[in-house]
Amino acid sequence: MAAHDSETPGERRPGAVSVLRVRGRALPDGEWIDLYADGDRWTTDPVRNAELVAEGWLLPGLVDAHTHPGAEAPGQPLDEELLRADLGRHAEHGVTLIRAPGLAAEPPSWFGTDPDLPRAVHAGPWIAQPGQFFADWGRRASHADLPEVAAAQAARTGWAKVIADWLPGDDPLPVEVLRAVVTAVHAVGGRVAVHSQHAAGGAAAVAAGVDSVEHGMHLDPALLHRMAEQGTALTPTLSIITGTLDRLRDAADSPRRRWSLSGATAHAPLVAAAAEAGVTLLAGTDSRPHGRVADEVRALVAAGVRPHVALGAASWTARAYLGLPGLVPGAPADVVVYPDDPRDDLDRLDRPGAVVLRGRLVRPAAG
Ligand SMILES: [Zn+2]
Repeated sequence: MAAHDSETPGERRPGAVSVLRVRGRALPDGEWIDLYADGDRWTTDPVRNAELVAEGWLLPGLVDAHTHPGAEAPGQPLDEELLRADLGRHAEHGVTLIRAPGLAAEPPSWFGTDPDLPRAVHAGPWIAQPGQFFADWGRRASHADLPEVAAAQAARTGWAKVIADWLPGDDPLPVEVLRAVVTAVHAVGGRVAVHSQHAAGGAAAVAAGVDSVEHGMHLDPALLHRMAEQGTALTPTLSIITGTLDRLRDAADSPRRRWSLSGATAHAPLVAAAAEAGVTLLAGTDSRPHGRVADEVRALVAAGVRPHVALGAASWTARAYLGLPGLVPGAPADVVVYPDDPRDDLDRLDRPGAVVLRGRLVRPAAG
């Protein structure tokens, strides 16, 4: 469809299929760009009859890198209608790509490909050792079987999600098991995301060289430099963890409360230190309702992360980490357009203008 010619872009022949066009300042660099959707690919070559659908500040879409759509509560089965509704809420809020590090079941074939819903990367159901994680969710595997189970999942979908630790008093996965998981998953070209909310599990995950630590509550800040060096990302799910603080302060004392309260209290400073150390941060919302990744960006900034880095964690940084390029010729044709720079006022993230997925307008510009 792309053509170099002298015709004015935007000119329309009756009956012609309109090609979508956006222009403005593209983040992260803020460079002026004028893009045409050639199917699901951006091109800077003017396309005849293109329709300018929005102009302003351009992101390659928001990314929620830790979300579990499609189940009402922990332990509940995957509900296709709910899955569709949850993903619809993400798209409505400007999310063009999600990573689901754990789902209630293997998703239906339209997951990640439905034209109106975000692209998706997923790890299938969680993988835990016997006796840990939410009952009725995920698979259980012995230490001996974990590497093979994780590698089989990663061979199918690119990711495996492993629960390294669970409640206070539970034994975390030994570092040797996590190392064997990483070796087996990397051997099939996949990546490993690891749930950790205890110091010992976090230390084992970092020592094993996993690809991403999910939550990372109680992680030893001394490990952050090693994470940055070896490219282990952190998805802190900060807003959901600190969101429990008020309730925890009022709760009756117990070992579980002390663990949660101390971890949640230390989490924002830990996240700020991770950004300072150069750890790749990924924004993730973890729980219901869906479509709240802007809350996570604001929580990161409130913790002390620069707005540019926090927004990158929910957009271009996460997208690159998950293997998709940003707003460059040849990239998949996703964009979210804001009238003004969202880094100057993060509440602007709640009012996206046009949302384009796969070269199609899924939410028109306001007004
Ligand atoms: Zn989760």
